[in-house]
Amino acid sequence: MYRFSAFFYNFVLLSRSIHRNIISIMNTYQISMVPGPVSVSPEVLEAGQINFGSADLEKDYINLYKSTEKSLRKIMQTRNQVVIQTGEGMLALWSALKSCLLPGDKVLALSTGLFGYGIGSMAESIGCEVRTISFGFDETFNDFELIEKAIKEFQPKMITMVQNETPSGTMNPVAEIGMLKEKYEIPLLYVDAVSGIGGSVVKTDEWKIDLCLGASQKCLSAPASMSFLSVSDKAWEIIEEIGYVGYEALFPFRDAVKNAYFPYTPYWHGTAQLHRACELLLKEGLTKTITRHQKVAGYCQDRAMEMGLTLFPAMDAIHSPTVTAIYMPEKISWKKFDTNLRAEGLVVGGNYGYLNGQVFRIGHMGTQANLELVKKAMDIIEHVISLK
Ligand SMILES: *Cc1c(COP(=O)(O)O)cnc(C)c1O
Repeated sequence: MYRFSAFFYNFVLLSRSIHRNIISIMNTYQISMVPGPVSVSPEVLEAGQINFGSADLEKDYINLYKSTEKSLRKIMQTRNQVVIQTGEGMLALWSALKSCLLPGDKVLALSTGLFGYGIGSMAESIGCEVRTISFGFDETFNDFELIEKAIKEFQPKMITMVQNETPSGTMNPVAEIGMLKEKYEIPLLYVDAVSGIGGSVVKTDEWKIDLCLGASQKCLSAPASMSFLSVSDKAWEIIEEIGYVGYEALFPFRDAVKNAYFPYTPYWHGTAQLHRACELLLKEGLTKTITRHQKVAGYCQDRAMEMGLTLFPAMDAIHSPTVTAIYMPEKISWKKFDTNLRAEGLVVGGNYGYLNGQVFRIGHMGTQANLELVKKAMDIIEHVISLK
């Protein structure tokens, strides 16, 4: 029996060390410029390295949740309640739609890219009557009369839009849409700000956003484990009226803190990491953090143009401060480009849908909005382009 367990123990040690080597070779990047999930700092990783007790039983968890909510409110500039759920960004996109909409409800989806378009399809899958206003994937909202006309005629229950369209490297103005929402008394404005929160200005209340959606793995630079969204009073009213029941339902979160009762076991480690990530951001200061993102984005765009590359967003589109999208260099496939960059230790983002193989992306968000790091990355790109 003893010999067997010794053998087994050695085997476990051996396989662990092999596993560790594989991890160090394949699963960590020397220089990550992927636009989410982004590199997590040691401080944030460490915040989850504790054998926490049961979140259902301990008051400490409630206090941690409350404190995280308070920080997120500051970062999102809102007095509204912020719901924090276990899961990554798509969860917030679904939970807000499913908790607020019934089949037949009218949804106006403003689209300038994959996510904007996708949110419309998601609402359609719920059975909503969706009207989509599509701009080019390389554009940002540039015809507010068209949008106003659609709002006036269609009278939707919800307007959906994406603040930072990650695949396109563009940023849409929200304030104008918020004003139109108020003017035509549209009940709900839904804004996917997943890749903008913590790296750009997000004025949830001033912009009249009812549902402002975020996630842990973008600018906040925590692992891909938590999603969060602010919920306005009007949205709570509708959520209560709809009474959606399901794993991702928002309603059970309304009084979760007050009653110290969550709809499922909360993820203490993930909340602790998100909490630490918010603390680090607020310690640097929200304005300073946003300025850092803008500076790094400007540098990245300039360097790309200097080496003869073409930025993807159209001339009059607003460029994102958290991600830069660039047309692929001529005469090199994405596969070869990616392989050559990886050989130099750099991993960047590819693309999806019809941008796949045509446009690549540098994710300078959160920990990756670092001038030294982006300089290194751009040096490698310049070198790889010169190889062909
Ligand atoms: C990342 C992201 C999401 C969420 O996607 P994940 O699957 O959580 O990565 C949603 N919207 C936008 C604009 C994003 O960039």
